Amino acid sequence: MMWNKEMECMPRDELTKLQSERLVKIVKYTYDNVKYYHDRMDAAGVKPSDIKGIEDISKLPFMTKQDLRDYYPTGTFAAPMSDIVRFHASSGTTGKPIVAGYTQHDLECWSEGVARCLSAYGLTNKDIVQVAYGYGLFTGGLGAHDGATKVGCSVLPASSGNTAKQLLLMKDLGVTALCCTPSYALFLAESLHKSEDFSLKDMKLKAGVFGAEPWSENMRAELEEKLGIKAYDIYGLTEVSGPGVGGECEYQDGTHLWEDMFYPEIIDPVTLQPLPHGAQGELVFTTLTKEGMPVIRYRTRDLTSLNYEPCKCGRTAVRMNKIMGRTDDMLIIRGVNVFPTQIESVIMEFPECNGQYMITVDRVNNTDTFQLDLELRPECYGDSVGQMNALNKAIVGRIASVIGIKCDVKIVEPGSIERSAGKAKHVIDKRKL
Ligand code: ADP
Ligand code: ZN
Repeated sequence: MMWNKEMECMPRDELTKLQSERLVKIVKYTYDNVKYYHDRMDAAGVKPSDIKGIEDISKLPFMTKQDLRDYYPTGTFAAPMSDIVRFHASSGTTGKPIVAGYTQHDLECWSEGVARCLSAYGLTNKDIVQVAYGYGLFTGGLGAHDGATKVGCSVLPASSGNTAKQLLLMKDLGVTALCCTPSYALFLAESLHKSEDFSLKDMKLKAGVFGAEPWSENMRAELEEKLGIKAYDIYGLTEVSGPGVGGECEYQDGTHLWEDMFYPEIIDPVTLQPLPHGAQGELVFTTLTKEGMPVIRYRTRDLTSLNYEPCKCGRTAVRMNKIMGRTDDMLIIRGVNVFPTQIESVIMEFPECNGQYMITVDRVNNTDTFQLDLELRPECYGDSVGQMNALNKAIVGRIASVIGIKCDVKIVEPGSIERSAGKAKHVIDKRKL
């Protein structure tokens, strides 16, 4: 199903024309209204009149998370406060939070993006949608909520946490779609399977709308099996708007980005040069329709690649491959680059693992230590010492072959790794403490 066929399937030449018109407009708008953009463009020697189309985008300077922090809280807003109708803020684990401001039109565009995603997942006004992303400053809850309301779904604003109540309402209301982080979905699935009060056959779930953190294809298979659903990826970030910057279609083969509103580029994070189509690098966005807090060439730090091949679904919007992680999630262990998503992907190859893991890195005698705590499915945990040792060895070997270094695998009791109702934490890097 398509929410906005005209935009989602627009021929590429027409789309380029639309993007060009919108870029010219937004560059002038930000130059005229935001001192930050004015100063940055002057320093780079670019005037709005130099930007005649989307092909000129590389003349514009990049914007970083640090810039948004430096101009905290509202220094990069382009609309007057009287037009701002909503704020959100990103978590700001590493300093000041980033505040985003939205006009009524921005909220419309945002929910349009989410509505396109939900429709692509096959959801309609006949669906009952449980939003178990956190409501509040985090964009997940209200973002999914507004999009689902736009589609006409019956929305259950459950927010995150209180797992027993989530399962009760899921069953009693006949919820058909669950929106939350993949880690919380895993936790809900585990709780459902453990529960004496509910079972999967009581549920009417058919779709999962999972995002806000990276998750592997192997995790998708696990969630689909445990919840009896099709699990779809939804992507977004506060600086650009929130969830719904893009979503998968029924083919689950890449996240279509809504390019008429959010223009993506892939750059080399070191040289900052744009990379050719298909290459992996850092994702950069320019918002083409935002009024409140537009961003121009915003460096997301997310590492991925883009696929411009036509999709079987008929949408022309580019597809983004699964995100490997953020540049700042990358661990360098004994000189080797390691992403938690690589570890997740390996452990989910082992049917004994339940998907819960924690990586602990430390430095002892000038050498990095790399420990991986792993939980098994409860029914596998009690296996014989011989079986456990063999499994341990197999996982160590598989990780070494995928990432090139050995880790110490420690099998821990099921339930002992802390669960998250929002974004999961998978790494403790004691070298930084
Ligand atoms: P914070 O920066 O505080 O985490 P956000 O909630 O805006 O704030 O998080 C956006 C980030 O979450 C993205 O830049 C990306 O790293 C991650 N993210 C969001 N959706 C996905 C997804 N579907 N797959 C992988 N990562 C995602
Ligand atoms: Zn498609």
